[in-house]
Amino acid sequence: MANCAKIQQITMIKAFLTDLDNTLLDFMRMKRTAVEMACNYMINVGLEVPYREIYDEIFKIYHATDIESQSVIEQALVKKTGKIDKKLLSAGIIGYQRGRDMATYTYPHVEITFKELLRMGLKIGVISDAPGEQAYNRLTRLHLTPWLDLIVSFDDTGERKPSTKPFLFALKKLKLRPDEVIYCGDWPERDISGAKEVGIITVFARWGDQHINVSPANADYDFKDIYGIVGLVKKLNSKKTASFQKIRHLNK
Ligand SMILES: [Mg+2]
Repeated sequence: MANCAKIQQITMIKAFLTDLDNTLLDFMRMKRTAVEMACNYMINVGLEVPYREIYDEIFKIYHATDIESQSVIEQALVKKTGKIDKKLLSAGIIGYQRGRDMATYTYPHVEITFKELLRMGLKIGVISDAPGEQAYNRLTRLHLTPWLDLIVSFDDTGERKPSTKPFLFALKKLKLRPDEVIYCGDWPERDISGAKEVGIITVFARWGDQHINVSPANADYDFKDIYGIVGLVKKLNSKKTASFQKIRHLNK
């Protein structure tokens, strides 16, 4: 019997999905700057608690409750002064907001990476464990929302990474298969494990690593700069554009 050759089209990378905190911006630097200014503003208007004491108290509350807590200044004032003085609270909130805004900016090469990926025809999305309001607010402050086709926050699935739900939700919204998507994030146990389980190509965001020399878990790639994504997409897509795999089937 004659041999027949079957042509199989290999998939292209069609979307780049990314974590938000400590991947697009240095979230902990932003927090530290915001809290520093909150403490200084409160001391400037009469808070009689040493700077180090109120600063440490705020972070103690963050660690004991939620890093996204919106009432941390009130809680710290009650703990250290026994009451909420509106003058101190207002100074703390304004100081926090100014520090936060000053320190909310992207890691190097985020914008140029997004621009080049969009030029290459990719879709770009964010998958964040942050509550919707905080995720959208941070992305708006970073001026990134116009670039994004999709933002998945905790509110969308009610589950945090490494649950596969946020990743599956994103794939469904974009109508893509896992092998058509690259995802990057800074937290191996959450970002890489979750995406990997779904079958997405993973990149460990070493530039956002908060723990020096952390193991990149089982990420497919380990980059020190987000711009590496551009080269990776070019490499994967050029291979795939050029190659049609011939599979020979012998009819016996
Ligand atoms: Mg992160």
